[in-house]
Order: sequence, then C-alpha cells, then structure tokens
Amino acid sequence: MTAAEMAAKRDTRVLTGVGVGALCASGTLHFWKKKRREAQPYRGAREEKRAFSDALLRARERTAVLARRTEDAAGEDAAAIFEIHDMLLADADFSEGVRRKIDGGKTAAKAVEAVAEEMAAVFEAMADEYFAARAADMRDVGSRVVDELLGGGGELPDGRVIIVADELTPSDTVAFDSDKVLGFVTFGGSVNSHTAILARALAIPALVRVGEISDEYDGAEALLDAENGTLTLFPTPDMLLKFATAESARRAEEQRLRALISLPAITRSGKKIGLFANIGGISGAEEAYRAGADGIGLFRSEFLFLGRDTLPSEEEQYQAYSRVARIMKDRGGPVVVRTLDAGSDKVVAVLAGEKEENPALGVRGIRLLLSHPDVLRTQLRALCRASAHGKIAIMLPMVVSVKEIVGAKEIFEGVRRELAAEGVPMAERIPFGVMIETPAAAIMARELAAEADFFSVGTNDLCQYTLAADRQNSALAHLSQSEADLECVFRLIKNAADAIHAHGDGKWIGICGELAADTALTARFLECGADELSVSPPFLLKLKEKIRLID
Ligand code: PEP
Ligand code: MG
Repeated sequence: MTAAEMAAKRDTRVLTGVGVGALCASGTLHFWKKKRREAQPYRGAREEKRAFSDALLRARERTAVLARRTEDAAGEDAAAIFEIHDMLLADADFSEGVRRKIDGGKTAAKAVEAVAEEMAAVFEAMADEYFAARAADMRDVGSRVVDELLGGGGELPDGRVIIVADELTPSDTVAFDSDKVLGFVTFGGSVNSHTAILARALAIPALVRVGEISDEYDGAEALLDAENGTLTLFPTPDMLLKFATAESARRAEEQRLRALISLPAITRSGKKIGLFANIGGISGAEEAYRAGADGIGLFRSEFLFLGRDTLPSEEEQYQAYSRVARIMKDRGGPVVVRTLDAGSDKVVAVLAGEKEENPALGVRGIRLLLSHPDVLRTQLRALCRASAHGKIAIMLPMVVSVKEIVGAKEIFEGVRRELAAEGVPMAERIPFGVMIETPAAAIMARELAAEADFFSVGTNDLCQYTLAADRQNSALAHLSQSEADLECVFRLIKNAADAIHAHGDGKWIGICGELAADTALTARFLECGADELSVSPPFLLKLKEKIRLID
C-alpha cells in the first residue's frame, strides 16, 4: 500500500489478542522480517566443518552477550533463558548431528537448520510442557548459528516502532535496541512464552496471538493496549488524546510511588506489616521483586495445572517453585505456595470428576487433593525440594475442618521422611498454613491454629460463602460494596486473628483476597489484627503508601 492509499484507508480497526503486562504504547507498526540469507554452494566437508566450528563459537559468545544484556536490563532470572541456549549449543548431539550431515553433502548452514529442526521436533513431541517449550529455543539457537554462518538478523528503521512479527525468539527480543522498540505484536506465541516473559521483564508492552494483520499495514499508526489486549489501527485523534492523557497520568503516579520502593511498610505507630504479593508464576515473582515485595503471600499453583491435558511433573513443579524461591531469597518474607486449588471455576481437565450442581460448594481445593493423594504427594515433594533454595511455606485452600489439615500434614510428613531417606536437601522447617476462606474455618480458627503455622484470609471466597453470594455474579456485587456490608466478614477475620495470635510462637495472619488491595479497608484489616497483606504486584506501592499513613 502506498502512503496515499494508506491515508485513504485510515479506517479505525480494533484487533484483539492476549496482552502481556499492563502497559500501553502508541506509534508506527514495523513488520519485522529477518534479512534474506544468501544460499552458498557446498565447499567440501573440511571447509564446511571449520566454518561450523567457528560459527558455533561465535554463537556461544553472542549468547553470553545477550545473557549479560538481559541480566543488566531485567535481572538474573530473565537471563536464565540464555543458560539453556548455551547448553543446547554445547550439546554434543547437536554438533555431531551437524557434522554427520556435512559429511552427507550438506552445507554447514543447511546442516544446522536440519539438525535444529529435528531436535526441535523431538522436544515438541514431549508430553512435559516444559520440555515441549524448549523446541522454540532449539530453533532459536539453530538460527543464531546460521546467522553467524551467513549473516542475518533484524534491521529496524529510524525512530521508535511497534514491532509486528509472526513470532519472535528471545534473542530477537533482546537483540533489538530497546530504546527503539515501543512494543511487540505477534500472531503466534503465548503469555508464557519466553518472549512474553522477557517483554514483561523489560517492561515493554506486548500482544500475542493477534489475528494475522496484512503487511500492507507496515508503517500504519497504532495504539497497543496490553492491559485490555487490543491493537487499534489508525486510532482517532480522540483516542490518541485519551491515551496520551492517561499515559502521562499513569507515568507520573508510577514515578511518585517508586520513591517508596526501599521504604518499609510500617504504620505511624511503628507496626511492621508484611507487604507480600499474589502471583501465578515466575514472571509475577520477578514483578513482585522489582516492586519491592517483602515476600509472596499467595502463589496460586493452579496456574501450573490449568489449560493442559496432563498434570505437571514433580520436576516441572520443582523448577517453578525453586525459581520463585530463588528470586525472593534476599527478601525477609516467605514464598507461600498454595497447594493446587482446583475445582469450581478452576477446572483441571484431568482431575475433573462428575458434573456438580453447585461446583463452588463441591469437590474443590483441599477436598479434591485429599481425594487424589498422589497429586498432593507429588506437589509436596516438589515443594520440599524447592525449600532448599529459599523460604518456601505451604498453604492449603478451602479448609473447613481440622481433620483436613491433619490429613494433609500426614502426607507431608511422609514425603519429608521419604526425601530425607533419599538424601534430598530440604529446609529444616517448612511452615504449613491454611487459608481462611470459609466461615467454618474462621469459626474453628482456635482448633485450626493449633495445627497451622499461619493463616491467610481469602476474602474472595470468604465473602461469597459468608454472604451466600456467588463471587462471579455481578448482580450480587452490591451485597459486599461497603465496609458496613462486610462487617460479618471482618468479625470472622478478627476471630481468626485472635485465635492464631493466642498461640504465640510467631504465628501470623495475612489477607490475600482482592479486598487486600482496597486501600479504603486497610485500616480495618490492621485493626482486625492482620500482620500481612498480599496483593498483585501493581498494587504493592499504593498499598505501602496507605500503610505508612495509618496510625
Ligand atoms: C480468595 O478466595 O480470596 C483467594 C485468594 O483465592 P482464589 O481467589 O484463588 O479463590
Ligand atoms: Mg479462594
């Protein structure tokens, strides 16, 4: 499309995708393609092998540079991807495979492409999602070696752009000069792909799985809104003005709150409140760390189980929990991992039982786990192993009675004995807590406190069960709108807080439901006895500001 045709076609169009991060960008789209590589004739096995060895060495050096650059910009954990890349490049199967193909008459570049593709296909066929995801990494490292052999890579125009591509590899993402990139839009990818993780870590807005856009739109004006998952082509002047106003207000507020990062969450009268974060995985932990969280108050482990046909293995879970434990290691607080809270609105396909009339009152949370003790055992093994890398604490969801915590603790003790006999390193003490999400748990708090090391109040469920109001039903929102509406819930929280504090021994209570982020209720939660508040990372600083204003 020529500039004139494009100008004539300036119809505003909104495309949807899956947003990564909560940022926005406005700018010109740039359709990114790798420079076409020239095919080269076969130069004989010895020459091709020598070229391959040199290219492999340079690719490993380039990987180290990418790792350093990512570490500087986004931290050690974001850079861990490149450790995996280096392992793949150093793999003897890879280089021997390439040399065999060269002996068979292929050029070094063709041999690398073929072997990388073969190895990627093997990864792809693996049932374990973690290994299946390594297919993209294998293709990425293969293409890095080919770049070294033939030259290639991305070219960006002058000025800042929103990059549009079929798919971006992690090395593409960091190889771009981040000052020139306003955002990423990809037709493929997922929110858990490395690209998405890096985009989040680099605080660049991204939209993945956008329906394909014709490259006729190269150079078109667009608004990328990762928070709402939209890409608006040819936004109207009104939309642009609204965006600019909202953006500058957001940045000013962010800047103002950043001044609080290194200050403690302490009330005017000197009570230190644990300011923890709710997360669903590794990227959430990175975000929480950057926002100054003292710990993780709720790691919703079900995110490792949802949207797949198999259960995550012990190893996969161990990797995730230990990564988070390492990220948060130098913070004072623990990483509270909630055991799988499946059932009701969180359906884990392989564990789904009979259809239930009232799934919110059905086989969910700890009930489901105790009816699948092997699933609980696998998760507890992964958590105990991860405890060697940081301050892991374990928390049970949807508890209504003492016998549930006693049953889960028996399995936990069995797992610890088993791992100790295997000589597996673990923390000496792993705190074991329960969620207060049901009126039964809040009322029986004295008995539960005898068994639990800590409580965490899930206000989302506690409100729904106390007020008999489905949390998904917006027609009932008015029942829990004001502090007065919530009086029944506060009384239950106070009962639980008094019960756990009566036990002494440093036992504590936190609030981790969505209400913890409502700063209008902060003072009330503290009055009830909350020692800790746990919210999504974007709310941490606002909440800290509020805590510091309370007497
Ligand atoms: C809650 O119920 O408040 C809670 C934190 O758990 P979830 O929202 O995951 O059910
Ligand atoms: Mg809940």
